[in-house]
Amino acid sequence: MTTPIQIAKRMQQIKPSPTLAVNAKAKALKASGADVLNFSVGEPDFDTPDHVCLAAKEAIDQGFTRYTAVPGIPELREAICRRFADDKGWQYTPEQIQVCSGGKQGLYNMAQALFGPGDEVIVPTPYWVSYPPIIELAGATPVYLPLSEESGFDIDASALAACVTEKTKGIIINSPSNPTGAIFSAAGLSLIAKYALERGWVVISDDIYDTIVYEAGELPHILNVAPELMEQVIILNGVSKSFAMTGWRIGYCAGPKHIIAAMNKIQSQSTSNACSIAQKAALAAVVGPQDFPGMMKVSFEKRLDAILAHLQEIPGVSCVKPQGAFYVFPNLSAYYGKSFADKKITDSVAMADYLLDEALIATVPGAAFGSDAFVRFSFATSMEIIDEGMRRLKAALAKLV
Ligand SMILES: *Cc1c(COP(=O)(O)O)cnc(C)c1O
Repeated sequence: MTTPIQIAKRMQQIKPSPTLAVNAKAKALKASGADVLNFSVGEPDFDTPDHVCLAAKEAIDQGFTRYTAVPGIPELREAICRRFADDKGWQYTPEQIQVCSGGKQGLYNMAQALFGPGDEVIVPTPYWVSYPPIIELAGATPVYLPLSEESGFDIDASALAACVTEKTKGIIINSPSNPTGAIFSAAGLSLIAKYALERGWVVISDDIYDTIVYEAGELPHILNVAPELMEQVIILNGVSKSFAMTGWRIGYCAGPKHIIAAMNKIQSQSTSNACSIAQKAALAAVVGPQDFPGMMKVSFEKRLDAILAHLQEIPGVSCVKPQGAFYVFPNLSAYYGKSFADKKITDSVAMADYLLDEALIATVPGAAFGSDAFVRFSFATSMEIIDEGMRRLKAALAKLV
C-alpha cells in the first residue's frame, strides 16, 4: 500500500463554497421525494431573455467557436465601456476592461494580480462567501471589518479604523450586498475613500447587484463619492444577476490599465478567455434593451415586501430591510440555546440544519458569511414558496423551547 498523494498545503485553509453545499443537501433531499422549499439559491429564478439566447444560437451557427482575445472580444469590451459611460458617467477604454468566466473569476484574477503574502485586505462582514478564500489563495490575509445590524450594515468609522494597519493593501466592498441587501451610504463610502487616498489602497467594488435597487432607487458609489480614486478602484460586474445568466459564466472588470494587464496575464495562463458563445450572448445583453433587470426588480420588490411582512410577525426575529439584491438576512439568534426534542440549536449552522430537517426549508447559515447570528433567505423564488416557507419557519421556531 502506498500512501495517498499529499494535497498541497494551501488547500488546508480552503473550504468548499458553503452556499453550494446547502444547495446540494437540499437537492438530495428533494430528489428523495421530500417537499423541500429552497431559499438557499443565489441566482434569479427568471429565464435568460430570448434575444440573448438567440445571439448565442447565431454565434454557433456562424462558427464563432474559436479562442477569442484573452481580455474578451473587442466589441463586447467597447459595449461595456459605453454602458459605464451612459449609465454611470465613468470613462473607460477597452484596454481597461477584462471579460472573464463569471464575476467570481474576475475577483480571483484581481486577487492574484494584486495581493500576496504580507498583504492584508479588509473585508466588511457579513461578506460574500468567496472573498476570504480568494484572498487566502493569493497568499494574503483577510481582515474582517464588522458591520452592525443597528447601523443597517453600514461602514462604521471606529470599526474601520481598528482594521487599518501598515500592511493594509485594500478593501473589497459589495453594495448592494450579498447576504444583507444593504447599500453603503455615501458617508460610509467616503470613510473608505479617505483612507484609500491617504494610504494608496486599492478598492475592489463588487457591483454585481447594482441593477437591483429598491425604493430609495439611489446607489452611492465610491467612484462618484471620490472620483479622484479612478486609478485605485477596480469594478466588478457582469450579466449573471442582471440578465439571469448565472450559467453562462460572463463577468467583467474595469480598472487601471496596468492592473487589467496583469489580470490578463493570469487569465492567459489559466482559462485563456471566457466562452466565445457566451461572450456573444453577453454582448446582446449589454447592447440590447435594458428593461429586463428593471422588470425583475419590480417582481423581486413584491416578494421582498411579502417575506419581510412574514418575518416581522415572528417573535424574536429582527431583520434589516434590504435596499437591494434578493436576500433577507434575519437575526435568529434569540432562538440559539433553545431545543426541539433532542436537537439543541447552538448556532446558525445548527439552525439551518434544523430548518432543513424539521421544516424542509433550505437556507444558508450566517456563519458562511462570517456572521453567526443570522440566516440567509433568498427570495428569488415564487410568492407561493415564500408564503408557505415563512409559515413553516414560524411553526418551526415556535417549537423551540
Ligand atoms: C453572484 C455574485 C458574484 C458573481 O457571480 P458569477 O456567477 O461568478 O458571475 C459576485 N459577487 C457576489 C456578491 C455575488 O453574489
